[in-house]
Amino acid sequence: MSFDAAAYEAFYRRSIDDPHTFWAEQAQRIEWHQPFKQTLDYSKPPFTKWFVGGETNLCHNAVDRHLATRAGQPALIAISTETDTETVYTFAQLHAEVNRCAAMMQALGVKQGDRVLIYMPMIAEATFAMLACARIGAVHSVVFGGFAANSLATRIDDAAPVLIISADAGSRAGRVMPYKVLLDEAIELAQHKPSRVLLVDRGLAPMSKVAGRDIDYATLRQTCLDAVVPVVWLESNAPSYILYTSGTTGKPKGVLRDVGGYAVALATSMDLIFCGKAGETFFCTSDIGWVVGHSYIVYGPLLAGMATVMYEGLPIRPDAAIWWQIVEKYKVTRMSSAPTAIRVLKKQPLELLKKHDLSSLKALYLAGEPLDQTTSDWISGELGVPVIDNYWQTETGWPIMSIAKGVGDKPTRPGSPGMPIYGYKVKIIDETTGEECGANEKGVVVIEGPLPPGCLQTLHGDDARFVGTYWRNFKRELYSTFDWGIRDADGYYFILGRTDDVINVAGHRLGTREIEESISSHCNVSEVAVVGVEDPLKGQAAVAFVILKNAAPAATPAGAQALEAEIMKVVDHYLGPVGRPSRVHFVASLPKTRSGKLVRRAIQSICEGRDPGDLAVIEDPAALQQIRAALAVLPVS
Ligand code: AMP
Repeated sequence: MSFDAAAYEAFYRRSIDDPHTFWAEQAQRIEWHQPFKQTLDYSKPPFTKWFVGGETNLCHNAVDRHLATRAGQPALIAISTETDTETVYTFAQLHAEVNRCAAMMQALGVKQGDRVLIYMPMIAEATFAMLACARIGAVHSVVFGGFAANSLATRIDDAAPVLIISADAGSRAGRVMPYKVLLDEAIELAQHKPSRVLLVDRGLAPMSKVAGRDIDYATLRQTCLDAVVPVVWLESNAPSYILYTSGTTGKPKGVLRDVGGYAVALATSMDLIFCGKAGETFFCTSDIGWVVGHSYIVYGPLLAGMATVMYEGLPIRPDAAIWWQIVEKYKVTRMSSAPTAIRVLKKQPLELLKKHDLSSLKALYLAGEPLDQTTSDWISGELGVPVIDNYWQTETGWPIMSIAKGVGDKPTRPGSPGMPIYGYKVKIIDETTGEECGANEKGVVVIEGPLPPGCLQTLHGDDARFVGTYWRNFKRELYSTFDWGIRDADGYYFILGRTDDVINVAGHRLGTREIEESISSHCNVSEVAVVGVEDPLKGQAAVAFVILKNAAPAATPAGAQALEAEIMKVVDHYLGPVGRPSRVHFVASLPKTRSGKLVRRAIQSICEGRDPGDLAVIEDPAALQQIRAALAVLPVS
C-alpha cells in the first residue's frame, strides 16, 4: 500500500481519532485462531490491551502460515563470515527446525509461560529458539552476546528462566568470544539457578559441561528429528518476550511485549513503513540481542513472508564489499542498519561498494541514533536509493517516526527522522510546566496513551516501575520517551538527545550507571562519573572520570595508562566490551550538587567544549577545573 501526502494525513488521523476501527482493520493482516472480542481495552490506563479475547501465535504467522504458498522459498539465510558458513533454510526447513527445537524444549520441561533465556551468537539456532518459544508459548529473553557475566547475571535473576540456551562461543573479527565461560560465571553470580542449559557446540572453543544441567543441542536434536509440536494458541495479551534495556539505575528494565498486538504492528509496518513484499529478501544488519533484531531480523520479515538475512560478522571483513555481496547474491530489496555502520563504511575504499549489482535494492532504513546529513547524502548517492531515517525505541518495538513511501512520502528534511507514524500521538512537552511546546521550542518527546499495538505492556514483574518510570512525569496520560526534541513549523520533528543518564554508543543504548557500577568494582576506584561525549564515528562515546582511593599508581603517564587499561578490562569482564569507555581520566574531585548528586551534564559540556551552564548548582566549581585539566593530558601513545 502507498499513499500520497493528503491520503496519508487522513489515514494517520483515523489511527488517532478512531484507533478501534483502524487497528481492527490492520489486525486482518495476521491469522487468528479465535477472533478478538474487543479491539482495545484502555479501562486501566496506562495499561493497554489490544485484541482482547483473540487467539493467535507469532510462530504460526511467521512460519506455518506460509507453508501452503511458499514452503520451498528461502525463509532464513544464515551467513557467517567469521566461520565461513552460509546456509539457506526454506520455510519448510525452518518449520522443521523450529518443531525440533520446540520438542527439545518440551523434553527439558519448558511449559507455556516459562521464561527461556537465549544468550547466543548470530547463528540460525538462535532464530529457531526464539520461534520455538513463540510456538509453545514460552517467553524468551534474548541477551546480547556483547554483554558479559555481571550483566548476564542481573538478567538471569530478573527473568528467572527455567532453561538457558547458549553456545560454546561467538566470534568477532576472528576473535573467539567464549560464551559458555561467561555463562558459567554468570550462573555462579546469579541467585537464580536454571535447571537446564542447552548448548550449541560450534567447535570454536572448548566447553566443560555441568553434569545433569548442560545438554548438547545436536545430540538432543537427533532424538527430535520428526517432531511435530502443535502451536499453542495464545490470548493476544499473553507475553511473548522480555527484552532488557538500560535505564537510569543500574538495574536494567525488562520490556515485556504481547503476542497479538506485536504481530499486527509488525505486519503493518512491514507493508507500510518497510514496503516489503512476500518472496523478497530483507537484510537487517543488527543483532538478535537488540530490539531491531527481534522485530526486523526475526519476526517482521517472516510475518511478511520474506526471506531474512542473519549475518554474523563485521561490515568490513573480509572487506567492505561484504554487505553488498549479500545484497547482490540474495537480491535484497530492503535493508536496515544504523548510521554508525555507514560511517564505518564511508572510511573504506569506494570501489568496493561499486563492485556489485545492487539493482534489487529499493531503500535503506537507518535507525538507532541521529542520522547526520553527510552520512545520509553519501550513502544515498552511492547506492542510488532513498535513505529512510526512522526513530524508535526498545519500548515501542517499531518506528514512532519516519517518512517512507507508505507513511507520507513527503520530502525529507536534513536531520529529521520525519513525522509521527500512524498510531502514535506524539507531542513535545515543556519539561517543567508539562504544557505543549510551540513550533521550534525544545521539550520532551512524549506519546499520548493508549500506545499503539506492539509497544511494551509493562516491565517484567514490575508494574509500579513501568508506571513510575514512563508515565508519571507529566500531568496527563503521557508516555515519556526520555528524548529531547523539537517540531518545526512544518511538522518535522528533530531528536536532540536523551533527557536521562542514558547514552547512545553506535546506536546501542547504555546506562551510565551500569558502566559506573562496573568501574567501581575495581579495588582502587573510590568514585566515578561516566558521561556520553560526541564522537564522529559512534555518535557518542562513554568517557569515565575516576577518583582513586590511592592516586599513586596514576601519578606518571605510564602508570595512568596501565590503570586505564586495567579499568577497561574490568568493564569488559563485568559488562562486556559494549560498555567499555573510550577513555578513563583520573581526577581528585567530581562536580556535585549540595545534596551529593553528580552533575553529569556539566562534565559532558566540558568534554564537548561547551559552556557548562549554571554553576550555582555545583557545590565545588573547582571540580570542573579538574575535568578540564584531565582532558588536557594527552594519551600516552
Ligand atoms: P534503543 O531502545 O536502544 O533502541 O534506543 C532508543 C533511543 O535511541 C531513542 O530513545 C533515541 O534516543 C535514540 N534513537 C533511535 N532512533 C533514532 C533516530 N532515528 N534519530 C535519533 N535518535 C534515535
